Amino acid sequence: MAETEETDGEGLARPAYGSDVEMNVFDAVRSQSANPVQPVKLGKTDSFCFHCHKDVSCWNVCCHGADITLPPYDILRLVRFLHMTPAEFLEGYTVPAEHSESGMPVVKIKMGGENGEGPCPFMHEKDGCLAYEARPSACRYYPLGLISMKMKEAETKEDFHFIVREEHCRGHAEEKRQTVAEFRNEQDVEAYEQINRGWIDILMKLASWRSMGGVLGKEPTAQVRQMFFMVSTDIERFRRFVFESRFLETYKIPDEALELARKNDIVLLQLGFDWLKNVLFNEPTIEMHEQVLQAAIAKARTELSSS
Ligand code: SF4
Ligand code: SF4
Repeated sequence: MAETEETDGEGLARPAYGSDVEMNVFDAVRSQSANPVQPVKLGKTDSFCFHCHKDVSCWNVCCHGADITLPPYDILRLVRFLHMTPAEFLEGYTVPAEHSESGMPVVKIKMGGENGEGPCPFMHEKDGCLAYEARPSACRYYPLGLISMKMKEAETKEDFHFIVREEHCRGHAEEKRQTVAEFRNEQDVEAYEQINRGWIDILMKLASWRSMGGVLGKEPTAQVRQMFFMVSTDIERFRRFVFESRFLETYKIPDEALELARKNDIVLLQLGFDWLKNVLFNEPTIEMHEQVLQAAIAKARTELSSS
């Protein structure tokens, strides 16, 4: 159970736990306040009162100056909804940022106003979110946050939620009571969670490595950061990288998987996560061609012996 609260460096308060747990905090908190988290663990069958609708006095307040990091699937959905290329979307609607815990490059929605305190570009005064069908996961979860936690002794991670209670949000005073499962279903978060999970695992692993001085004791290089940014933000660029560069001369991808990745952005994204896990953590998520592998081993040996 949560004991106290700590802040994540981006102004988001997070429940603090003992050192016997590994925890992934999904950046799903669309928060404007400094310390809004209620440190109460909610499972899927727990219930809470909340209702957001056009007649609340705070309608749209939360869509100003919001801090919304966009995971890869959120970008895919918005790009499809807006009928844009990822490059056009990144240029028009996002600002580059650094994920505070891992130091990796990410993008956030570009809020209006000179200091980013203005409205979200998708906000309409009367109608609310004009991108509702493709709204980001942070907007879907609100006012819930999601934590994936694994006790050191446990085999698997356990997910649970917590409530973000910001003073300006009057939705908490509404009488609609629902379980976490009902809310999640209504907000349609399942696909976002499943598809983005590989990416969040990478960020959290990097954050954990960073606290020990970087992957294998080193900070990721500029090239690795660029690779991460490409997979995270621009599926078209990654597609060109896989099919039009020497990627397939280096990696052995089964024909069937390759055909699926060619046709399906989500499969291609998962290939991107597998590739990053291999490059960053040496995980056996993707196979190299034998001669490339032998050459890489020989190069590593030479480097080791000369250092
Ligand atoms: S994407 Fe939609 S719901 Fe999210 S902050 Fe912007 S207008 Fe609000
Ligand atoms: S009730 Fe909360 S989530 Fe809904 S518009 Fe108001 S501040 Fe935003």
